[in-house]
Amino acid sequence: MSFTQSHLKVGELATGHELNVPIFKFTGTDANAPTVYIQANVHGAEVQGNAVIYQLMQLLEQSTILGDIVLVPLANPLGINQKSGEFTLGRFDPITGVNWNREYFNHQVDVQDWYVEHQHLDDAALISAYRSHLVAACQQRLDNPWGITSGHLLAVSLQKMAHEADVVLDLHTGPKSCKHLYCPTYAHDRAKLFSIPYTLMIPNEFGGAMDESIFCPWWQLSEFLRTQDRELPVAVDAFTLELGSQEHIDLHDAKNDALGIMAYFSAKGVIEEHVAPAQMQRFGCYLQDYKKYHAPLGGMVEYKAPLGELLVGGEPLANILRLDKYGTDQVLTSLSLPDDCVPILHFASASVYQGTELYKVMTNLFEL
Ligand SMILES: [Zn+2]
Repeated sequence: MSFTQSHLKVGELATGHELNVPIFKFTGTDANAPTVYIQANVHGAEVQGNAVIYQLMQLLEQSTILGDIVLVPLANPLGINQKSGEFTLGRFDPITGVNWNREYFNHQVDVQDWYVEHQHLDDAALISAYRSHLVAACQQRLDNPWGITSGHLLAVSLQKMAHEADVVLDLHTGPKSCKHLYCPTYAHDRAKLFSIPYTLMIPNEFGGAMDESIFCPWWQLSEFLRTQDRELPVAVDAFTLELGSQEHIDLHDAKNDALGIMAYFSAKGVIEEHVAPAQMQRFGCYLQDYKKYHAPLGGMVEYKAPLGELLVGGEPLANILRLDKYGTDQVLTSLSLPDDCVPILHFASASVYQGTELYKVMTNLFEL
């Protein structure tokens, strides 16, 4: 066995049962190689990341591992087990309604203040001290004498582990979705390594998600140092990988995504072997060009536009069926968008309220 297994307690149920997440660790041979943290399934229905971790671990067992790799599948036991009828809910904390991926700790480091005490350090020591600060801040959050919500307990426990790594991958899926990657703009050249055709380039803004909670404080540090005439590349990479649709496992496809992650590992020097990225076209889009389309009326939806393919402005996006209007010209409404786009994901259900976020589409795409 080339790995060790442990677990982390992230909560307790009313019956006293412990909520534990499994942790697999592959230990590297080179203390200077980048270290990695990967988690999956923080949203309960987004199960495909577990299959990717399964395929990835099998590949890692055949590889020469340089940097430590920590893998945390099944990262939200409460969300994963939150079933209703045939479906998994698990996107929102059932008590507070908060999205499980908006619970991470926003450090808001006073970098200027912090740097006054640490400016004498060389780059390596500076990075180490900043990392310790982030980990300690998470621990302080967890130790709040007034307690913290179930959502924060889970998220900040995971975040604290993730801060120890140089690379953080958070594996999600969309509702009904093609594959896409959330990539901080400073890491744009790494987007070409994953087996993912569409990349959203995101700015240095904290919205509560895992990837942002990891890279924002480091990006902020690098930007501040530039004002002090000190160049320090952002010391961590953090990405959210959206690996298809929820409630779906595809082991063959998971192998492709595991190989994409291996290509990234290879380029970063996490593994010794050379793994070439998949030959494919990849496109990028800035976050401000990632548009939401909200249903203009309620009803039953026929989703028409295929995901991951160019949709020319004016072509059919979806039909809304309104049987209450049968006998009038409003029984069927054909929807389209004014601009050319690539639909990335759509709502999971075929019935919607007026105002439901029906599609998310990329506009103004460019080739990576
Ligand atoms: Zn998700």
